[in-house]
Amino acid sequence: MLGGMQDWPLLVWRLIDHAALNHPNREVISLTVEGPKVCTNWREVRDRARKVAQALVGLGMKPGDRIATLAWNTYRHLECWYGISGMGGVAHTINPRLFEDQIVYIANHAEDRVLFFDLSFVKLVETIAPRLKTIEKFVLLTDRAHMPESSSLDLLCYEELVAAQDGKFDWVDVDEHAPSGLCYTSGTTGHPKGVLYSHRSNVLHAFAASLNDVFGLSAQTVVMPFSPMYHANAWSVPYAAALTGAKLVLAGPHTDAPTLHKLIVDEDVDFTLAVPTVWLSMLQHLEKTGEHLGKLKRVAIGGSAVPRMMIERFQNDHGVAVSQIWGMTELSPIGTSGTPCPDVLAMGPEAKLDAQCKQGRAVFGVEMKIVDDNGAELPRDGVAFGRLLVKGPWTVEQYFKGDGGQVLDADGWFDTGDVATLDALSYMHIVDRSKDVIKSGGEWISSIELENAAVGCPGIAEAAVIGVAHPKWDERPLLVVVRKPDASVTKDDVLAYLSGKIAKWWTPDDVVFVDELPHTATGKLLKTALRDRFRDYRLP
Ligand code: ADP
Repeated sequence: MLGGMQDWPLLVWRLIDHAALNHPNREVISLTVEGPKVCTNWREVRDRARKVAQALVGLGMKPGDRIATLAWNTYRHLECWYGISGMGGVAHTINPRLFEDQIVYIANHAEDRVLFFDLSFVKLVETIAPRLKTIEKFVLLTDRAHMPESSSLDLLCYEELVAAQDGKFDWVDVDEHAPSGLCYTSGTTGHPKGVLYSHRSNVLHAFAASLNDVFGLSAQTVVMPFSPMYHANAWSVPYAAALTGAKLVLAGPHTDAPTLHKLIVDEDVDFTLAVPTVWLSMLQHLEKTGEHLGKLKRVAIGGSAVPRMMIERFQNDHGVAVSQIWGMTELSPIGTSGTPCPDVLAMGPEAKLDAQCKQGRAVFGVEMKIVDDNGAELPRDGVAFGRLLVKGPWTVEQYFKGDGGQVLDADGWFDTGDVATLDALSYMHIVDRSKDVIKSGGEWISSIELENAAVGCPGIAEAAVIGVAHPKWDERPLLVVVRKPDASVTKDDVLAYLSGKIAKWWTPDDVVFVDELPHTATGKLLKTALRDRFRDYRLP
């Protein structure tokens, strides 16, 4: 026997239709590549997304076709997201920070048929176009006035394409399990692999992301995601904002602290999301200028571990609550949220901060456990640590085209590649990525914890810790740091600062100062490059 309720397929276009009907005038604000700030709203975004869908059908696109974007967070990119999924296509968001060879690889692997791209990427696309085997149409996301005078490509103008449609278009009904988006992992080793999101997984994930204990979105929220729309669904904010009717603020191509800060203040942003590196430069900017954060009340920080001093600075100096988010491309991307539960709120200030430094509790829709090397489940005691496994309706089942083979174990668990603890309140704490953890004399040292402690040291802008070969201990930690401009902090200063903050035997064997650290296309430390650079490094 089945239940007696309706089958209402969870399709991504229902989100934008809902926003257009119920929150038509709620604004979508966008900085643009051309310069001006554009103010539109959910109804206009829906109407123009319909035209994008209609245009794609006119170009011969069919449900299931992959349509790529190479674009910043803008209203036009948003229209493309909804327009592509709304005609049954798969929105393949390409990360422009990838190396050219990787972009070529993934566009060919995905068999993208159309590429929508921003003016910033004309040169890049012209360079790689001869190697793009499947793209039939190149659409520049701009108006006629900004089209280049000449180009080696046969370019279509986005605004002309949209203007040529009458908008009489019915969204395409597909199965809710049909694909709606595609995002490749940055692949620090080997080729990137594609995660193929379904309509259902994206809609369920948007529900979860909107919850009070996750992003806490409502029609009154003004949300600005710095998380890019080209990586892991911008943490689902463009979907969750439509679901709730929140005002959405998009920073276009801008990533510098002064511009982001001005946008936060000018648009009354009260909630924003980004990786820690963005906030490091924002906090430095605020320190320098003495400026405040306007109406900002909350920030969600994730993608890498959040340093303790960052939480303290936001909360103590700016009255902005911090919630840590953990996730990955394979999880659409949210797994946990660190919004304090009553048990944590009842704790003293230091214990509360300890809890906030953890990655948080699983969101409904994510099952989680830690296991030892034999696959046996470990206790939730906050001490035992092991491989973190997850399952749920927005966790990957297999990579696009089956790359990498079977990725789930016999019971359907996905191995995140992270090593973690779970405590009695089910707060998860990432100890390290399994490939970054330092093995010293049979014991593990967390590179993340050392890095977080080191960035608290005055004069240090950024820190990375890697394991370096050691004749007696197998591996020992090497701390590689970038000084803040004009700082003169020394190795002895750093080691003195760390003393008492970490276990004595974790103390790095050496500290090396560099001008900059290598990062991945998603802004994380690229430890593989650091390990290559210091492969033959002799510890004192
Ligand atoms: P990639 O950069 O490889 O494409 P993702 O962007 O999906 O991958 O990153 C996922 C990984 O980022 C996680 O497996 C975890 O190691 C790390 N990560 C994400 N959020 C956090 C966090 N809050 N604390 C520590 N690590 C995090």
